[in-house]
Amino acid sequence: MRVTLTATIVADGSVALDWQADSHVRTYHLLIVRTGATRAYTALKLGADTVRYRIDNLSRHQRYLVAVMAAGKNGAALSLWWSMTPQAGLTPLPDNSAAGVDSYLSCLSRVTVMPQDARLTVFWDRTPGFIDTVEVGVACGETALTQIDVEPEVSSLSLDHLRGLPLVNGKAYTVRVGTRFAGSAGQRPVEIIATPAPQGHERAANESHPQTSLIYATLSLAPEVEIFGDTAPPACAAEHPIVCFHCRREVLWQSYQLRCQGCGAEFVPNGRGDFLTLGALRFGTCRCCLPKKILIQKPGSSSLTCAHSGKEHIRLPGSDGYTLIEDLPHGLCQCCRPRRPLVKRSGRIVCSQSGESHRNEQGCYVLVPSAPVFDARAIDDLLDQGLAEICATGASRGRR
Ligand SMILES: [Zn+2]
Ligand SMILES: [Zn+2]
Ligand SMILES: [Zn+2]
Repeated sequence: MRVTLTATIVADGSVALDWQADSHVRTYHLLIVRTGATRAYTALKLGADTVRYRIDNLSRHQRYLVAVMAAGKNGAALSLWWSMTPQAGLTPLPDNSAAGVDSYLSCLSRVTVMPQDARLTVFWDRTPGFIDTVEVGVACGETALTQIDVEPEVSSLSLDHLRGLPLVNGKAYTVRVGTRFAGSAGQRPVEIIATPAPQGHERAANESHPQTSLIYATLSLAPEVEIFGDTAPPACAAEHPIVCFHCRREVLWQSYQLRCQGCGAEFVPNGRGDFLTLGALRFGTCRCCLPKKILIQKPGSSSLTCAHSGKEHIRLPGSDGYTLIEDLPHGLCQCCRPRRPLVKRSGRIVCSQSGESHRNEQGCYVLVPSAPVFDARAIDDLLDQGLAEICATGASRGRR
């Protein structure tokens, strides 16, 4: 297959693109790289019927690389890369020094697994680059148990009965994490062996496995949001029994929860040596970590964020409570940056923010644009944030 792309600068900050392929195409992937000290990557998944697109609000002072990738039954093809600075009067030039798509793909830089009671939580960091999905697979010996694909915005996943995976304590499982882009490209999976075990027995149960990629849940008294990174090592909870401030009875750490033996009140350590009553938290606790952490609302944001893992808790219209990105029924949109949840509205799958239609194309959602214009303003903002907020410390999903 061959795909050709032409690029024209139509105004300051605006580029018109059109393309064509010489055989049957299932999806087009429009690839945009913002060059500079830190590169930013944005890809748009489009249906086979979209063959032109205009990108508005690019920075006039940056150089961009743009290409289109066509994916079909007979594999995928990449067009030439065009190099451009979107200022009126300048002409895009083919960039012959730009490499194939493989050198622009996002790679997993660190993968860790936290064994818990009948649960394994896997965490990963990625390098910047193009990516469609992170693939998480679990096997027991030679038997594959499940394969879960999650959006690249997700940086950890809990594997337990809530995800239809009844893991057995004391059994060794192999967790595989890989990446995929445009159907075919991707990274060989990273493999980690871990054994789930009840609270307090996790280390012993995993003694025989390589430890470099394993982490263990502890009752952490470290600050939830560490600003300067110079705080003293956390105090050990076992040395200082915790007493309920309602009834003065002892509070125990069991099943990764701090609960009073007398009145049953539940507490969350705030990381400064004292404890918050769960019932008094304004937004409650997160759904991503076990032990549970505090949910916070960032200024100007309508969604909530776990103070520990940085995971976004999204409120979906028509459902109560909060949803994590990995639990969204249709995943995230192709039209917005940052990407917003796709929802079903009068039989159609649309972006919950823009209302743009999306179509399921062999398991992935492509944008069916009402107007073929992409507002790139957000790319520059995303450059500073990173496409996803990567969690630096371990976290897993709670039951609430
Ligand atoms: Zn109590
Ligand atoms: Zn959390
Ligand atoms: Zn959208």
